[in-house]
Amino acid sequence: MLRERGQREVFCGLTGIVWLHRKIQDAFFLVVGSRTCAHLIQSAAGVMIFAEPRFATAIIEERDLAGLADMNEELDRVVDQLLARRPDIRLLFLVGSCPSEVIKLDLGRAAARLSLRHRPAVRILSYSGSGIETTFTQGEDACLAALVPELPREEGKSLLVVGSLAEVVEDQFRRIFADLEIGPVRFLPPRRAEDLPPVGPETSFLLAQPFLGETARTLEERGATRLEAPFPLGAEGTTGWLAAAAAAWRIEPDRFRDVISPCRERSRNALARYRAELAGKRVFFFPDSQLEVPLARFLSSELGMELVEVGTPYLHRRHLAEELALLPPGTLLSEGQHVERQLDRCRAARPDITVCGLGLANPLEAEGLTTKWSIELVFTPIHGYEQAADLAGLFARPLRRREALSGMPM
Ligand code: SF4
Repeated sequence: MLRERGQREVFCGLTGIVWLHRKIQDAFFLVVGSRTCAHLIQSAAGVMIFAEPRFATAIIEERDLAGLADMNEELDRVVDQLLARRPDIRLLFLVGSCPSEVIKLDLGRAAARLSLRHRPAVRILSYSGSGIETTFTQGEDACLAALVPELPREEGKSLLVVGSLAEVVEDQFRRIFADLEIGPVRFLPPRRAEDLPPVGPETSFLLAQPFLGETARTLEERGATRLEAPFPLGAEGTTGWLAAAAAAWRIEPDRFRDVISPCRERSRNALARYRAELAGKRVFFFPDSQLEVPLARFLSSELGMELVEVGTPYLHRRHLAEELALLPPGTLLSEGQHVERQLDRCRAARPDITVCGLGLANPLEAEGLTTKWSIELVFTPIHGYEQAADLAGLFARPLRRREALSGMPM
């Protein structure tokens, strides 16, 4: 295990708004930040002109930074205007940024103050999406952790799946849990702010994403219990993840096998053709999405790829224990980043494919290395049995493209 501290090349937590605003359909994300933040969000979301967007930036101007304006008054005015114009908003997140943190604007207090004015029609919460010492998936963690204290209390037994999943994936999991007679099953985040899932001492939760450390901690504070499991990536990861819920509900092993086997077999068969293509290929992960460890496990154990280095921004040892146990012995793990040193290691190793952020992908491609953008793995449905082959395809495609290009006359 290599621990590195140095310059990092990652997006900030504002990026999470790109998928969260599509997920919670009556929520609105108001970034309190600079023009840079506004540009990031607009270009990352790919939306410049949109009839009714569900995110915006309240720009901190220079006179605000110089302390010439009362920021809180201005923020209240912007929020009042927004909510008057958009009565469909049920949940408003004030999202902090680097500039709002630097000037120490207390968005938690602002959210509490504004809530008094706008409840019960609108719930107003805050979290930080700042890029200071964080990576981009922590935006979702901070957002969900802000929601946890708002969840209603429940006394009965239930399963909570935690982490944004594509709706098609949620529906597949819902069907499998129903076939296993596990339930009630709920999802965080919900599709609508009005459907916040209840939580209590009898709630068991499964993390669907490995970057939700703070959310898990706040759920545990509410008395819920995390089920120890690998993450539902690939046929085997998904089986292990479902098995954790089945064990908690004391489902008979035969019954579990009967329900799971057809999906698992279909998934394995779909993966077989990618295995032929990817086995023996060497992969190098730069730290970015925090999905690196489960992905590395999937690529090595289900597709036979070789792991050159598995870099991750943070290694949550407890949440990743099952994944780490499934990595080949001797896998080089690195936590944190010193980008120059890591680039040197990558160039020296000449992996077949390098998983990294957008900032590194272009220069590495120019040096003849094949890359995969890690952010794409967060935007694409990759969880569960039916998506396992799509996930493998995301790694096969750049290799095919490189091969096709190398055969072309220059
Ligand atoms: Fe840049 Fe920070 Fe704004 Fe993110 S939050 S866009 S890192 S200034």
